Amino acid sequence: MLSNLATRDVETLIHPYTNLDAHRANGPLVLERGAGVHVYDTEGRPYIEGMSGLWCTALGFSNPELVEAAAAQMSRLPFSHLFSGRSHDPAIELAEVLKELMPVPTSKVFFTSSGSEANDTQVKLAWYYNNALGRPRKKKIIGRQRGYHGVTVATASLTGLPANHADWDLPLPGFLHTACPHHYRFAEPGESEEAFSARLADELEALILREDPDTVAAFIAEPVMGAGGAIVPPRGYFPAIQAVLARYDVRLIADEVICGFGRLGTWFGSEALGMSPHTLSFAKAVTSGYVPLGGISVDEPLYAAMVDQSAKLGTFGHGTTYSGHPVACAVALKAIEIYRRDRVVEGAAEKAPHFQARLARLAEHDIVGEARGIGLIGGLEIVADKRSRAQYHPKAGVAARCVAFAQGEGLIVRFLAGDRVAVCPPLIITPDEIDDLFDRLTRALDRTR
Ligand code: PLP
Repeated sequence: MLSNLATRDVETLIHPYTNLDAHRANGPLVLERGAGVHVYDTEGRPYIEGMSGLWCTALGFSNPELVEAAAAQMSRLPFSHLFSGRSHDPAIELAEVLKELMPVPTSKVFFTSSGSEANDTQVKLAWYYNNALGRPRKKKIIGRQRGYHGVTVATASLTGLPANHADWDLPLPGFLHTACPHHYRFAEPGESEEAFSARLADELEALILREDPDTVAAFIAEPVMGAGGAIVPPRGYFPAIQAVLARYDVRLIADEVICGFGRLGTWFGSEALGMSPHTLSFAKAVTSGYVPLGGISVDEPLYAAMVDQSAKLGTFGHGTTYSGHPVACAVALKAIEIYRRDRVVEGAAEKAPHFQARLARLAEHDIVGEARGIGLIGGLEIVADKRSRAQYHPKAGVAARCVAFAQGEGLIVRFLAGDRVAVCPPLIITPDEIDDLFDRLTRALDRTR
């Protein structure tokens, strides 16, 4: 029997990333409020929010300083924009702070309202840049199987997940995918992480040569794949990949939408994994998810090309109403102040060994083939047979059942396609709360078996 609110939900709402058929019978989990690492449903039941919402509420729920920053900006200047050279102080200050923090050469910052828009901007700028340089053929973009970069037509094309392509008539031509760097699933028997990385770099090089290097503009990668399964790349992966990209003048875009702002125990995931991108995309934790904000860093060569294009075409023909929304910028400034003042990123690094040790213990469970992670992010690979690594039939829905049992235990974790479970709690989680989270997840796995 669905509650009144649940019934109204089913009658009126379309939910993103939901089995709309099953939802009619199952109804929603209706949440009402949050505090710290907990959220509460309409019956008052508490849950540990083990996914930081959608990998974003790094500072937990109902942080009064973030609320106050939003309210103050709402009262002062609730809306303004950056079109036609107009500006406002929260956007200027935030761009300055981000320039200081970015682990990449950053001349300027461009703001969006989401990760999808940030990566969509990356695609358009990769094309625009090569047109400005007189290289109109250099336009193809390479992503990776199981990579996730968003849902717009271009970013769903960058994404390498079946649900984003099947029956959507995607990917568009000009978007290519290279192999997923998941050692547990795709390494040859006995192949070391380094040898696997070298093989993947060779495969990437073969793809670029097959396509013709003069037609390949950019390669995009998340430092750690999130929606694809919380997949940490094998040792030596990014240095090997970057050597190939450098040979063919292919720009590297880091999608830091999940890894940015402390998730791996460093400000950006690139820093933890030896990644030296030309540009990066950010979103989510930049505001701790409290208001939508994303953006990208722009290096000097790209910025110079954009200025030349304006001189030629009369304007930089890109941007949305909410690019650099003042309330979003004010909340991001406050979030970054808190990350710095409270040593949130360093704290994540200090808590990571405990988090990873508790995660690793789950690999002893019968149906867990691999428990992997870094910093305060982790993924479980659910298997039917640990020795052969065979998976359950997709229709068996074993990981989805585990996630439902976890919810029954008062823990929210996320089911990912391919029978995977992700964990990504707020960075403010305490060691005791980490134990509580993994105790609940262990009980959920016990019930799933
Ligand atoms: N890139 C990555 C790595 C993501 O995880 C996501 C969302 O989960 C996106 C891009 C898309 O961001 P958004 O959902 O804000 O459009």
